[in-house]
Amino acid sequence: MNVVYIIGGGLLLLWLISGIVRDFQGKNKIIQVVDNNCIGCQRCLKRCRHRVLDKVSDEKRTHVFVKNPDYCTACGDCMNACKFNALELIERK
Ligand code: SF4
Ligand code: SF4
Repeated sequence: MNVVYIIGGGLLLLWLISGIVRDFQGKNKIIQVVDNNCIGCQRCLKRCRHRVLDKVSDEKRTHVFVKNPDYCTACGDCMNACKFNALELIERK
């Protein structure tokens, strides 16, 4: 039983450390939507834990935009979810 706790604790620690490293690495970067590539499927919205992205619809189409830029940790999760190459990380200005 102790082995289970040790392995579980180790995995939890690794997860926490990787999150801290990712957050630290993301301080100088921010997500940007490549508008022409976005088809509005919203996979990225579901993936982002920080509610950075939101959708907007006009008469032609639905697409996403960066609604809360200050919340972006540049984790890249939304990029991994996007199958249309419509998201990229850029340097913060
Ligand atoms: S996953 Fe990509 S294509 Fe889909 S809404 Fe997000 S940015 Fe647009
Ligand atoms: S990089 Fe991470 S925090 Fe930023 S919008 Fe994408 S999923 Fe959200």
